[in-house]
Amino acid sequence: MSSKQKSFKKSLDDPLQFIKGAGPKRVMLLKKLQIESVADALYFLPFRYDDRSQVKKIAELVPGEMVSFTGKVIDAGTIRMGRNRKLFEAVVQDDSGFIRVKWFHFNESYMAGKIKLGNERIFSGKPTQNKRDGGLEMIHPDTDTGPGDDFSTESLDIGRIVPVYRSTEGLHLKALRTIMKNVVDGYNHLVEEFLPEEILNRYKFPKRSSAIQLAHFPPADTSIDLLENFQHPAQRRLIFEEFFLIQLALAFKKRHQQITERGRAFKTRGEIIRNFFKLLLFDLTGAQKRVLGEIMTYLEKEEPMNLLLQGDVGTGKTVVALTALLTAVDNDCQAALMAPTELLAEQHFLNIRPFCSALGITIELATSTGTAKEKSLIRDRISDGTTQIVVGTHALIQKKMEFSNLGLAVVDEQHRFGVLQREAIGKKGLVPHVLIMTATPIPRSLALTLYGDMNVSFLDEFPPGRKDIETRLFYENKRDNAYHLLGKETEQGRQAFVVCPLIEESEAIDLKAAIDVFEELQNQRFPDLKVQLIHGKLKKEERQQIMADFKEGKIDILVATTVIEVGIDIPNASVMLIEHAERFGLAQLHQLRGRIGRGTHASYCFLIACHALTNDGKARLNAIVKSRDGFAIAEEDLRIRGPGDFMGTRQSGMPLLRVANLLRDIKLLELSRLEAFALIEKDPQLELPENAKLKIMLHQTLGDQMGLMKII
Ligand code: ADP
Ligand code: MG
Repeated sequence: MSSKQKSFKKSLDDPLQFIKGAGPKRVMLLKKLQIESVADALYFLPFRYDDRSQVKKIAELVPGEMVSFTGKVIDAGTIRMGRNRKLFEAVVQDDSGFIRVKWFHFNESYMAGKIKLGNERIFSGKPTQNKRDGGLEMIHPDTDTGPGDDFSTESLDIGRIVPVYRSTEGLHLKALRTIMKNVVDGYNHLVEEFLPEEILNRYKFPKRSSAIQLAHFPPADTSIDLLENFQHPAQRRLIFEEFFLIQLALAFKKRHQQITERGRAFKTRGEIIRNFFKLLLFDLTGAQKRVLGEIMTYLEKEEPMNLLLQGDVGTGKTVVALTALLTAVDNDCQAALMAPTELLAEQHFLNIRPFCSALGITIELATSTGTAKEKSLIRDRISDGTTQIVVGTHALIQKKMEFSNLGLAVVDEQHRFGVLQREAIGKKGLVPHVLIMTATPIPRSLALTLYGDMNVSFLDEFPPGRKDIETRLFYENKRDNAYHLLGKETEQGRQAFVVCPLIEESEAIDLKAAIDVFEELQNQRFPDLKVQLIHGKLKKEERQQIMADFKEGKIDILVATTVIEVGIDIPNASVMLIEHAERFGLAQLHQLRGRIGRGTHASYCFLIACHALTNDGKARLNAIVKSRDGFAIAEEDLRIRGPGDFMGTRQSGMPLLRVANLLRDIKLLELSRLEAFALIEKDPQLELPENAKLKIMLHQTLGDQMGLMKII
């Protein structure tokens, strides 16, 4: 097709400037809403609906009946009622009579700008009878600019269930509605069905184009209740289809891995493992035993393990990981443990090394620090197979790194890595078994979309003797109180962490802030104690020395940037004081708090926050104060921030959800998952003619994003 021909042919990819009502300025504003093409607009559904289907004259209004009317504002203004109470009242008139409309909660200048003398407006709500004079009035009506000239023709703003879209400053809802109407009228006939008949019938889903039509402009008899709860079949269908494609991609990937990838079937519970268990100073918890049993079953298969292990901070994931690593070594393979930060890699290395020495196993630390020569020597020992266990950071998945015989990789605290990176480590050597561990329990719905192609195990029991942690929020002017309480703990011989935030854009400034805190503590507050500063810019040896000193109790207060966020295990530390707590994510705060309460002492987490907290900021910090349960906190995080931003998943391959909502629509998510996996079971390559459209759709929408390009 020549480009000229093409320009005459309508397509769902058409940019919005083709749409009547969408001038250059509005096109810019729409872009802010992530609406650039016709298809984007079709999937930009209303988040709410106003029932303005009943239109009456003012004289016909009756109390308690949901209704809309139009009228002219003939009086308006603020009325004071006593000292602190105010009321905004207007009188509205049409050719049949007049009515008072009232607002008790309002912004004065906003109302004065909106409800002006002489203006023709639409009002919707339920009229009530005034108790004193018996007259009809309407409290807190919805109101919109009047229908104007449009009134005689079919109006989008009255006489129907009116869609309410999320908009942006400068883009009036009326204009947005008009654009949407033009998009739906002009293009909806191009929307093709791709869901299999069978599914449409089973769930009584409407066709795709009717669903889109209805969701934007529902006919007057549509149940507003269903609409508002996103339970209307049209909405359910659109939510389902969005989840279904993602689940189909995941099912496809999983199936593809099963068919094409071969790993090594390990013998488990061998001599090394038996000896290792003898070295342990504690008994495994029931959950640790169960999870290890699950892992062993996976490892005994030739199909490579692809397992996500969820276990809250302190549930004892390290032992599980080490058992898996040692199983690989017992099978003459190399094993790798990848951590998100240098410090955590170092700590893992230091923790694991004594076991390796006792068992006669060679272990190496591979990070990005050290001279080029040192690093190259380490790489040599890894590639010639001298090194049996490697602990490291993402240095492990760099191109230069080659293993001679990698049999298993453990990735600790996966959420800090991009989802795609988990695949990179799988690419080294014959497909290794992969165990991904996360201490930030991911809400089930998110796990199903992010990791839906993996198996999941749960470490849901804490080792015995876990001590209470009291969490308290202090505003900045009460900082002294927090430090006073910290001092009481150090008097008893406990140790404390003081954490300062790190914002990557300005590392120098952050470091300066941490240094200031350190100097204040050492010179003014606690001159008799040993205070030490640790941060990411220190040399590896220095950091290791500091952590060793802290562990041995030679340091009382460790001032740190977030390098200590995960994995650090110092049982005698009983205080975690976090400066500028509002700058941290919930997952991070939960992790930081997980550094204490590990010994036999009651522990304290003090959050210091600035006064100008936003409502979200307050809600987030309160979630931490209220709960120590990682799952509850993760759900709260998802609720406050939305999935796009959850734990930095925005950059990590989380598909954008336009219609579906991971909290609201979990049932449909699970349904779509069942259907998608069943379909791939039946038609693994999507070759059946009835699935042809589905295959194309999958390719178009998620091919790039979910790494399907090469395999589908
Ligand atoms: P996670 O990585 O899951 O946050 P760790 O593996 O660091 O937790 O374990 C937390 C602490 O609990 C460590 O001090 C570890 O030695 C200890 N631990 C682990 N398993 C047990 C157990 N079964 N009994 C007693 N202590 C345990
Ligand atoms: Mg850990």
